[in-house]
Amino acid sequence: LLGYIGIDTIIEQMRKKTMKTGFDFNIMVVGHSGLGKSTLVNTLFKSQVSRRNAGWARDEKIPKTVEIKAVSHVLEEGGVKMKLTVVDTPGFGDLINNDNCWEPISKYINEQYEKFLKEEVNITRKKRIPDTRVHCCLFFINPTGHSLHSLDLEFMKRLSHSVNIIPVIAKADTMTIEERQEFKQRVRKELEMAGIEFYPQKEFDEDMEDKSDNDKIREAMPFAVVGSDKEYQVNNKRVLGRKTAWGIVEVENPNHCEFALLRDFLIRSHLQDLKEVTHNIHYETYRAKRLNENGG
Ligand code: GDP
Ligand code: MG
Repeated sequence: LLGYIGIDTIIEQMRKKTMKTGFDFNIMVVGHSGLGKSTLVNTLFKSQVSRRNAGWARDEKIPKTVEIKAVSHVLEEGGVKMKLTVVDTPGFGDLINNDNCWEPISKYINEQYEKFLKEEVNITRKKRIPDTRVHCCLFFINPTGHSLHSLDLEFMKRLSHSVNIIPVIAKADTMTIEERQEFKQRVRKELEMAGIEFYPQKEFDEDMEDKSDNDKIREAMPFAVVGSDKEYQVNNKRVLGRKTAWGIVEVENPNHCEFALLRDFLIRSHLQDLKEVTHNIHYETYRAKRLNENGG
């Protein structure tokens, strides 16, 4: 029998590299205006993702978002640094003519691919290319209980070919438990009928284990979220919540909404996969198309 070669040390080697360089993770929020996108961006930064990072204590009211804007924070845990960037976008659907309203968002996504491509084909390449590519796009759905807006379907359909789409039900505190369950089911069915593949895409499940894990996630989607950047005292603990006349909705309490589920899905279980699908599928599609244009 052979002696120990040490192949398994690659995990430790990778760990060391990641500790040294850190990594980028970029999330974009998209959807009709007024659905709580900017609020959820603040919630993400204020919640456990970065609660230990002081210096994020803005309390002014969130202004209406008028341009695509990226906000970054470097977060560190256990010696590993993550540069988390959230790209906030203006809501669409406000205009009388909403034709091509996905264009600015599509353009932003492609510009990040282009930037990365330019760096890759440079003769003197950077040792590590800064990654601004959008790894996932949270698509906010209006909690109407009715059919999805045709604009939403069109939007998701177009974007799903260039970015990982994760649909979420906005302002879930406005629905009863039954309404929420029914609506989630309805949205899944409508997406399926429209042929819209959201992340984690079935076609990229690598094996049966992947498939069964991801099936569970797909059946729980779209996550019904609540956002807030205000803190309240509940049972001697400071919690992010929304205070109503009938009580406090706790944003990070899994019995109240699925914000924590979404956050753990994005960061604890699927971050690396979101990055890989972005690089191997979406970026690759863009790259092949661009290089073909140049070659032909
Ligand atoms: P955006 O246009 O999608 O960026 O929406 P904003 O974040 O600016 O929020 C629009 C309004 O909805 C504000 O008054 C927020 O306080 C409110 N809002 C945000 N998130 C929630 C939520 O989860 N539930 C409820 N009920 N209201 C929310
Ligand atoms: Mg906004």
